[in-house]
Amino acid sequence: MLYSDIADVFDRLEGTSSRLEMTSIFSDFFKGLDPGSLRKIVYLSQGRLHPDFYNAELGMADKLVLRAISFTAGVSESKMDELWKKEGDPGKIAETLMKNRKQASLFSEPLTLEKVLKNLTMIESAEGRDSQDKKMKLLSNLLMDSNPVEARYLCRIVTGRMRIGAGSMTILDALAEAFGTKEDRPDIERGFNITCDLGFVAETLAIGGVEAVKKMKVTVGNPIKVMLAERLPSISLIMDRMGGRCAMEFKYDGIRVQAHIDRDSVKLYSRRLEDMTSNFPDIAAELRKQCRAERAIIEGECVAIDKDGNMLPFQNVTHRRKKHGMDQAVEDYPVKIFMFDILSVDDEDMTLRPLGERRSKLNETFGLSDMIQLTTMEVVNSPEEGEDFFNRALGKKCEGIMAKSLSQESVYRAGSRGFLWIKYKKDYEEALTDSFDLVVVGAFHGRGKRAGKYGALLMAAFDDESGKYCTVCKLGTGFDDAFLAGMPDMLDEYLSETHPSTVDAEMIPDVWFLPTVILEVVAAEISLSPIHTAAKSIMKDNAGLGLRFPRFTGRVREDKGPEECTTVNEIISMFEMQAQNKA
Ligand code: ATP
Repeated sequence: MLYSDIADVFDRLEGTSSRLEMTSIFSDFFKGLDPGSLRKIVYLSQGRLHPDFYNAELGMADKLVLRAISFTAGVSESKMDELWKKEGDPGKIAETLMKNRKQASLFSEPLTLEKVLKNLTMIESAEGRDSQDKKMKLLSNLLMDSNPVEARYLCRIVTGRMRIGAGSMTILDALAEAFGTKEDRPDIERGFNITCDLGFVAETLAIGGVEAVKKMKVTVGNPIKVMLAERLPSISLIMDRMGGRCAMEFKYDGIRVQAHIDRDSVKLYSRRLEDMTSNFPDIAAELRKQCRAERAIIEGECVAIDKDGNMLPFQNVTHRRKKHGMDQAVEDYPVKIFMFDILSVDDEDMTLRPLGERRSKLNETFGLSDMIQLTTMEVVNSPEEGEDFFNRALGKKCEGIMAKSLSQESVYRAGSRGFLWIKYKKDYEEALTDSFDLVVVGAFHGRGKRAGKYGALLMAAFDDESGKYCTVCKLGTGFDDAFLAGMPDMLDEYLSETHPSTVDAEMIPDVWFLPTVILEVVAAEISLSPIHTAAKSIMKDNAGLGLRFPRFTGRVREDKGPEECTTVNEIISMFEMQAQNKA
């Protein structure tokens, strides 16, 4: 298959901001592909060669890509610097220079998908002292044979930033349109939620149709999208919602970990599907030791503890996220895992069983030790019992409680946020809203003391219905000097020369960013806003929802991907919760 056919589709996708149009461009294209190529092209459309959880990444640095472009086009380094300052996107630079090329090499041949995949695979696996040089030459070898549009997407694939605005939800829509009907969309999405592998779902669909996707099971080694909790403003409302009886668990303040135990190998994944096994080698080894089954998938919260075994706040466990010096960190920052769910045991899919059954299975399957414990859980039958449990949780330095349904329907809903689990934190008693995890979509140049830096950021929430990031506030408070100084390093690789098609904004910042970096923000309240686009015209005609007095808490949510930031629907329900709190 010719790579130019794929690049042309990416180009058409980039040219539209309509999710419906993107869906139909993708679905028309998908229908004509053989299943194996479809799988690979789905990964490429996300700037990858494999599913997100796969440990290896192409991730070439911009500088290295620029070297490959200058090597191919025969352009001086100073000219490249000038273009980089102007464009900020290696893809655009490659495209411009390939257009200016007098003629392609005499030996150039049309690029095929196979050739592109072959070189990209070698780039991914290049190791050793001269690996940077090897990667540069492998990319240049592809650029030699590429036309301008092909060059644009080659450079974007290797940096992992495609800028075509098509997220996983659009691809799932397109797959349903190509190989099924609208009614099949939930089954296809469940396939994705329990495997986290868009390419695999696409290939399965193309081979065996929706019936084959319905048969997909959770599998050790394929991380599962995590189940999430709703919020309510009081314990008594939670008890009403739960029908007067539920399980309550302490809500621990640590890092969520999904452990995949397979005979002698254990892998730990973050909620963002990063492989965190090397950050918690002690937990991985102890889980294997305590697990009585050959294979299992469990979830738990890893919490840092002091030398007397008391729980410490979240910040302490983040020392375990370091890339280097892990042996020392393991010694300096001991942790425990509190297990709260089991999703598979010896290849038996537990996700469709009610919570009570899952909890019994978790008890049966694991021995406990200092390091491996179960979350404290009790069955609660009244608001008073709930309040008492909540106070005990706070006494143990937990953040609050998780109330969990005990009904027959209390399955594990991978990837979804619903009222089967409801969280209640200490903060809800004191503040009108919870904290928000918002994605940076733009920045405003600073003035006065902040001149020459970014002075404020434009922040957005994710609308999972439209697939767009909708603005909710301009954030200029809570940044210390070190954070202000480090902002360009953290954000500039996501600069976008134009308003990204996935961002819905009426407030126009000085610079735009591709939605990537997530910051935790607190605010005095949520109010109607004439300028912000979240929930536009839902609560009131021509008004959206915005945050009043937003402040950065200091926490960058590296454990969340952009589509996992606070959603517009959550902001609407927090707005309603705030009205109840005020009342
Ligand atoms: P969310 O996970 O809801 O997107 P978040 O990551 O900001 O939001 P919280 O709102 O604080 O986290 O609450 C949910 C998280 O609480 C879970 O993802 C999990 O990491 C953690 N947690 C702690 N204790 C438990 C428990 N007993 N059961 C389930 N989750 C728990």
